[in-house]
Amino acid sequence: MPIKNRFAELQTEITEWRRDIHEHPEILFETHRTSALVAEKLKAFGCDEVVTGIGRTGVVGMIKGKADTSGKVIGLRADMDALPILEATGLDYASKTEGAMHACGHDGHTAMLLGAAKYLSETRNFDGTVVVIFQPAEEGGGGGREMCEDGMMDRWGIQEVYGMHNWPGHPVGSFAIRPGAFFAATDQFDIVFEGKGGHAAKPHETVDTTVMAAQAVLALQTIAARNADPVDQVVVSVTSFETSSTAFNVIPQTVKMRGTVRTMSTAMRDLAEKRIGEICNGVAATFGGRVDVTYYRGYPVMVNSEAQTEFAADVARSVSGACEEAPLVMGGEDFAFMLEERPGAYILVGNGDTAAVHHPEYNFNDEAIPAGCSWWAEIVEQRMPAA
Ligand SMILES: [Zn+2]
Ligand SMILES: [Zn+2]
Repeated sequence: MPIKNRFAELQTEITEWRRDIHEHPEILFETHRTSALVAEKLKAFGCDEVVTGIGRTGVVGMIKGKADTSGKVIGLRADMDALPILEATGLDYASKTEGAMHACGHDGHTAMLLGAAKYLSETRNFDGTVVVIFQPAEEGGGGGREMCEDGMMDRWGIQEVYGMHNWPGHPVGSFAIRPGAFFAATDQFDIVFEGKGGHAAKPHETVDTTVMAAQAVLALQTIAARNADPVDQVVVSVTSFETSSTAFNVIPQTVKMRGTVRTMSTAMRDLAEKRIGEICNGVAATFGGRVDVTYYRGYPVMVNSEAQTEFAADVARSVSGACEEAPLVMGGEDFAFMLEERPGAYILVGNGDTAAVHHPEYNFNDEAIPAGCSWWAEIVEQRMPAA
């Protein structure tokens, strides 16, 4: 059972929605126009219920099947937010908002789930209920977490959730997935070394924070190289190093560092947090200074449930003939919060040979629309078959 014919018919219309959203990118929770557009379309499709303001600017639509004897409720989730990037695609529908851009393809995700909602509202060829979830603030704001905290899962009785992301470098419309840990936990840290500033010609009268912090940058690399089991994944990257003086002849009083930690398990996450504290305190003590370490826990590891992943892969094979095993991704994904609340699965759909996500020349590939929409529709029709 390949691409659904209806989506071949709808592709032009869905592409128009996608390009309209692309032209009007909105960041984090500021997805006011996009959310209004989504809510308006869901109402026009005839969804049984459309609710805005879940997780601030999130939108939820409910569609009942022609029968409801199964009692099943499936959630399908797309993200709506853009990134603070200056677009360099040169497209005629490029961003009209300076410094904001749909550089992760969430315009495509939103359009594809709208397409599926239109089809499912028209046909209702399933036994149960579908809840379509449109979230803001995937790119670092935790919009998915806020929708969960607003009680979305219980309010609509959602039993399973599914998500999808486009994937540059994979053939258009092909699928890839993996069970278990899939996307990394994404944490951040701030480190402030305090010493005794002074004249650079009299280092013996100072406690040099630059030397101290430089030692710490190198020592932090031993978390991955010497503390973690080599078969486990951990990334510790110091991404900012700021001295309190930029003069040629001043030893600065303080040095601020920040960075990110990526892990694939709670054990590795705990280890990284503990070792960052120990290493920085040890270095500060060695050089006679002080240090403050603040560790911020961001998105948790995104874990695909076994049974739902197997089902999602079967559906992908029914749509496009094959489904590859996806690699581990050290990026984060806010859908992790929904998968902590309910079993479900997250799949990648090929975007073809395009620029990578978050690149100023990236663009969502509209040729992926029929496959992406068909996967959504088939998830529903195969999981909750009509009698
Ligand atoms: Zn992204
Ligand atoms: Zn994304």
